Amino acid sequence: MAETASSSGVLAVPIAGGAAIFGDRASAPSGLDEWGLADAAGAAIERLFGRPVPVLYARQEHTRLSFTYSAGEPLPPGPHFVGTCDALLTSEPWTALVVRTADCLPVALAGGGAVAMIHAGWRGLAADVLGVTVGRLRAEFGVAPGALDAVVGVGIGPCHYPVGAEVVAALERQQVIDGSWRGDGVVDLARFASGRLAALGLDPARVRVLPGCTACSQRYHSFRCDGNPAGRQWNAVVLTEGLRPPTP
Ligand SMILES: [Zn+2]
Repeated sequence: MAETASSSGVLAVPIAGGAAIFGDRASAPSGLDEWGLADAAGAAIERLFGRPVPVLYARQEHTRLSFTYSAGEPLPPGPHFVGTCDALLTSEPWTALVVRTADCLPVALAGGGAVAMIHAGWRGLAADVLGVTVGRLRAEFGVAPGALDAVVGVGIGPCHYPVGAEVVAALERQQVIDGSWRGDGVVDLARFASGRLAALGLDPARVRVLPGCTACSQRYHSFRCDGNPAGRQWNAVVLTEGLRPPTP
């Protein structure tokens, strides 16, 4: 598929076997609840691909908990709540995985016929939600890190992210390929995430970081800018080719 422009409020980025799809404020009005955002993601995916899909979403709590969906009976299209976790994985085609963000990073992974969608703020990154998810893709689907594409969506930039020493100290416990994520009293979460993915064995050439800052641009909901009433972006990944990994 070709990458779409985001004038519609939706940016679709090709990723191994499918697409990572990011909704901004224009496709995710303030006031939508978790179900409503999953429903909006499903509607956008249906417009892109011409077919309705089930949309899996979770209660997010900045953890390293993950949920793997394996189909028994086919799910009907529309939102499906799966419980509490911050990373969702599947090898089922035409089954969207959605996380919600407003400054945290959305991270999509895909390769070898499996996909994952991750909600990654500093707490999740410090808890190594990326490492857990890359490990699960290998353990559950036999996908090596070197076979993965990654897309790191737009979160809060270092321009708007002063942090205390405790945040830097928590992140420093993870192995990252270089220290460029760390500034003077600020951190660059996207650089941290891409550096962590490289340290986990992903090919840096296959790790794409979308430019921008949720607090700089009116295109995005931002918790730092808008406070408690802040809306959320929806961020999705979906396998569209139906490839299945070989049985390990
Ligand atoms: Zn900014």
